[in-house]
Amino acid sequence: MLSSAPALQGHHTLISRPLRIALLILLLLAGLFLAMHLAGRQAEHQALRDEGEQARGQLTLYAGSLRTLIDRFRALPAVLALDPEVRRILQGPVDNNQQHQLNLKLEQMNRAAGSTTLELLNRDGLAVAASNWRSPTSYVGHNYGFRPYFNETRAHGSGRFYAVGVISGIPGYFLASAVRGEQDEFVGAMVVKLEFPELEQEWSQSADIILVSDARGVVFIANQPGWRYRELQAIPAEGRAEMSTTRQYDKQPLAPLIHNTLADFGDGSRLARVDGPAGQADYLWESLPLPSEGWTLHLLRTPQDAASSARNASLAAGGAWLALFFLALFLHQRWRLARIRQRSREELEQLVEQRTAALRTAQDGLIQAAKLAALGQMSAALAHEINQPLTALQMHLASLRLMLDNGHLEQARKALTRHDELLQRMAALTGHLKTYARKTPGGLRECLELGSVVDKSLQLLAPNLRDAKVEISQELNVPAWISGDAIRLEQVLVNLLRNALDAVAGKPEPRLWITVQRDADSWLLQVADNGGGIAEEDLPRVFDPFFTTKPAGAGLGIGLAVSYAIVHELGGTLNAANQADGAVFSLRLPVDKVREEMP
Ligand code: ADP
Repeated sequence: MLSSAPALQGHHTLISRPLRIALLILLLLAGLFLAMHLAGRQAEHQALRDEGEQARGQLTLYAGSLRTLIDRFRALPAVLALDPEVRRILQGPVDNNQQHQLNLKLEQMNRAAGSTTLELLNRDGLAVAASNWRSPTSYVGHNYGFRPYFNETRAHGSGRFYAVGVISGIPGYFLASAVRGEQDEFVGAMVVKLEFPELEQEWSQSADIILVSDARGVVFIANQPGWRYRELQAIPAEGRAEMSTTRQYDKQPLAPLIHNTLADFGDGSRLARVDGPAGQADYLWESLPLPSEGWTLHLLRTPQDAASSARNASLAAGGAWLALFFLALFLHQRWRLARIRQRSREELEQLVEQRTAALRTAQDGLIQAAKLAALGQMSAALAHEINQPLTALQMHLASLRLMLDNGHLEQARKALTRHDELLQRMAALTGHLKTYARKTPGGLRECLELGSVVDKSLQLLAPNLRDAKVEISQELNVPAWISGDAIRLEQVLVNLLRNALDAVAGKPEPRLWITVQRDADSWLLQVADNGGGIAEEDLPRVFDPFFTTKPAGAGLGIGLAVSYAIVHELGGTLNAANQADGAVFSLRLPVDKVREEMP
């Protein structure tokens, strides 16, 4: 029974406590890390996507301004190619004066149109006139037959090309248109060169990096120094060979721009780590193709909000995780506590049951002991009761022998009948004593008639009653059916009667009253005497164990205590009171309804 305490703590022994705590901390940290990481990443990507959308808007604006700029000059070479003066100079032999006039004209037109240079190439690609004829880097007299725009114009009527000026070293966009003779034959090309200093100047105000790359992925316009002439991707050998024949970037060395995509958001939007001129950095990289020119516009932006968004989201997720974790822990502990409580309750109940059983055994023992003690006290009278018929038998046997000797057979037969009666009386008494002395288990329930219980008790006490010369009045309203344990009820009654006998001993007219009557749902059995009653101060104590007013040896003081216990176990009550000149004990027991209703 005492093993219940370790049993309470004994569960959960599968994993030791320190290990459990370590695992819990590990789970807490892992969850925290995961939640913060995932939330951070998610928030970062969302922020980058949002920023990317903004950047894309801006990029579209830049693309628009570039296209507008080019479009302004797109038709210029075609219009100039129609000039008869131009055609004439290409068809006839070169006349210095004519050439001078054309140089002046181109110079004027160039200034008016706002282009960078205007030049006229003959059918071999030789520049015969140019707007920059005055400058030391004049194109006049140089051959540009190797430039792809010239070949394109000769083949298809128009051409365009972005290249670094062979003479000037200044990069620009060349737009060319064919000049046709009388028979519509190719006689030369009118070329306009556009440089974008203003555009680059304007773009350089931006905090973002803006790049324009050609079809091969070479950056040729950049709004910040160090980014121009960088290869965005490796150029194959034939590409390189072509670039050297067309002298596209002429003597400009090209360096690769190393970049790694960290996250791709689709639609030309990505996060990339770039080895830029100012060192490595992460950029939000937006790309927008310009199909009309075969170029691609790029915008590289240092992500602003992403880091702080990620940090905020991480912290929020971490907080949420911690809250959830501790909530779960709290709930778990509560559940465990409830379980422990439940277990201890169950164990307590078991304990109570065991103790109750032990108590019952003890009580059964006590009842039996009290009964045997009473029997012991009654034994002298009982022995006497048995001895009397034995002595009588002895005498009868002697006279029986005489009768037989004298041959009085008929007399002897008659005398034998009396012997039978005596023996039967003895057998009844000893049989009753045997049953009475038997130990009965508590909780026994049988259907009983109170009147017979009274009879049997009086039988047991017959010798004592006779010796005391007590007058007994009985008023029994029988049958009085109750349910209980016959022997134990007899024990109660024997106790009450013996106490009454003790009380009336030595009184002038000793009397006992025994009544059984119905009182609502119970039967009331009363034993009254005229023995002087119980002292007022003793009344509340008579049922206490070991309370006695009798001299040592005569009383143990447990008779009423045991009787009280027996009656209560049967669902009844036992009371003591005083009346006229004696005590009255009232025993009340519930009616056995089932038996009563039986015919
Ligand atoms: P015991 O008879 O051994 O003393 P009981 O428990 O039967 O123990 O009785 C306790 C006490 O109650 C008695 O000693 C006596 O003082 C008192 N008592 C019981 N019955 C009577 C009675 N009929 N008249 C007067 N006193 C009584």
